[in-house]
Amino acid sequence: MAEKDGLRARSWLAQALGWIDEASGAIVPPIHVASTYERDADNAYSRGYSYGRPDNPTVQHAEEIIRTLEGGAAAMVLSSGMSAALAVFLALKPGDRVIVPPVFYWGLRRWVMQDATQWGLIVDVVDMRDLAALEASLKRAPTALVWIETPANPLWHVCDIAAIAQLAHDHGALLAADSTVATPILSQPLRLGADLVMHSATKYLNGHSDVIAGALVTAAVTDVWSRISSVRSAHGMILGSFEAHQLIRGMRTLDLRVRAACESAQAIAESLSVHPRVDAVLYPGLSDHPEHAIAARQMHGGFGGMLSIRCHGGAAAAIKTAAQVRLWKRATSLGSVESLIEHRASVEGPGTPCPDDLLRLSVGIEDPEDLLEDLDRALRA
Ligand SMILES: *Cc1c(COP(=O)(O)O)cnc(C)c1O
Repeated sequence: MAEKDGLRARSWLAQALGWIDEASGAIVPPIHVASTYERDADNAYSRGYSYGRPDNPTVQHAEEIIRTLEGGAAAMVLSSGMSAALAVFLALKPGDRVIVPPVFYWGLRRWVMQDATQWGLIVDVVDMRDLAALEASLKRAPTALVWIETPANPLWHVCDIAAIAQLAHDHGALLAADSTVATPILSQPLRLGADLVMHSATKYLNGHSDVIAGALVTAAVTDVWSRISSVRSAHGMILGSFEAHQLIRGMRTLDLRVRAACESAQAIAESLSVHPRVDAVLYPGLSDHPEHAIAARQMHGGFGGMLSIRCHGGAAAAIKTAAQVRLWKRATSLGSVESLIEHRASVEGPGTPCPDDLLRLSVGIEDPEDLLEDLDRALRA
């Protein structure tokens, strides 16, 4: 767990690092809206701020919380999860080689497969669950970056962060992990050897479906980190201060929300795995999940709030089930207080690795019995 001054994450998160405004004694930080800052008479910027596109004090407060959660050397908050991921890829140079898995967040997968090559990156696709395949790819050509997502959307494949970090480093590559679904409460990829961790802060970190934001945390402040920082500034990818303030408020309850979602997701997954209308449940917390042992090793306190089910009766049955729910909301996104259900293949479109009988469930913090009764009724309707 991410301890700070001997306190567990739940304690220091509730108080947003215990920050008190020196001028007023306010226990909630002010929202810094200024786009520009006064220069000193001697022409310096002794307070460290010059202009709002590279930096903002409210954004920095959010960054310090996320940095502490992940145990990193520095953190950056960006205007979305996609901008966080793209800042990493755009910090590479044309001609650099990257290795990505076949299944990861569809928006990023589409960008990597369609646009990254135009930008000059060389892309190899390797199933990261197969360490021998990864090693073979790393041996084939010098590689700048290995990108993983675990658990991976929307099939919830899990890959072994520590083993992949070792392989990447043995071959001179950096490892970046999209840890949006694991959350820093359950898993801390930097402690397992990853160089960079990325979050769509839109999801669990904010947790209330009212902010689009992204985050990056680095194990060390390197040249690559400086280039990522330049990309954020040059592309204007910084988060607005109102959103940063909302994000700080959301993170105060991160620990409680994640634990509640995990507990309910585990109960729902177990119950649905013996449901007559469900052909398969994809959830790393089930003992028959192929990577359950790896997940148990690198996730602490639960297996996340995300699962997918494959409906008996194919795509039509899946879409019909989603149409019948009352408590669950039919919507995309994940990691919020309200539970969401989605026919994923309809969102991802042609070329998706997602089967068309699959419903993705984001378990929120409602009463788990209510969630299960609603699903059971919808499945049987
Ligand atoms: C949502 C999501 C993203 C993209 O984040 P945005 O905030 O929507 O830009 C990236 N990775 C994962 C795993 C996600 O769930």
